[in-house]
Amino acid sequence: MTALEIVRIPVLSDNYVWLVHDPDSKATMVVDPAIADPVLAAAAERGWTITDIWNTHWHPDHTGGNAAIKQATGCTITGPAAEYARIPTLDVQVAGGDTVHLGRHAASVWDLPAHTAGHIAFHFAEDAAIFVGDTMFAMGCGRLFEGTADQMFANMQKLATLDDATRVYCAHEYTLSNARFAVTVDPENDALAARLAAVEAARAAGEATVPTTIGDERATNPFLRAPSAAELGRIRALKDAA
Ligand code: ZN
Ligand code: FE
Repeated sequence: MTALEIVRIPVLSDNYVWLVHDPDSKATMVVDPAIADPVLAAAAERGWTITDIWNTHWHPDHTGGNAAIKQATGCTITGPAAEYARIPTLDVQVAGGDTVHLGRHAASVWDLPAHTAGHIAFHFAEDAAIFVGDTMFAMGCGRLFEGTADQMFANMQKLATLDDATRVYCAHEYTLSNARFAVTVDPENDALAARLAAVEAARAAGEATVPTTIGDERATNPFLRAPSAAELGRIRALKDAA
């Protein structure tokens, strides 16, 4: 099985759309297309035809390109069953425990409710990659729009079961803001201080800072490192107010 090719497409102010290609089957999938044109262009540049869209949650900056990409390619759109009513373009409804495929690459669907009530993630275990939408960011986590700190704590604990080498593909470049906040709640963490400096340099040079890895998050992400749901809720509220 040839490795997946994963392309990062920056769109809008800080969204990342992920274009995922399986060289064996030629299947090409888009995670959370906020908009259509740059995604269609990125695929065309590489001679790829989009066969699938996978959505992690209903927010318009994750689904806004669904209809136009489907119209252009006839692709199949897969997303959270629990948000079916809010993603009118959905063809296939999935939920935690289901398996979806890109060619022969299998991804298990995880239920990660909190940012939205039906938020899901796609974990390619053999490829050591997980697409987490707006649940985890580099040194951060998603806002609790439709869920609780208890739920987000459970999500972080579940993500913490993955190997350090697992790459985490999140949907926004929030890293610098997250790092600057993280050092205020975890000031003694040397790995975090070093990462903030590295991220400041990367952003000053115009570089992207994701994907991240579970290992880097385990060392520096205050939400993943929170010892309890109460502590996660406390720092989430501080970040919201920052
Ligand atoms: Zn969102
Ligand atoms: Fe988003």
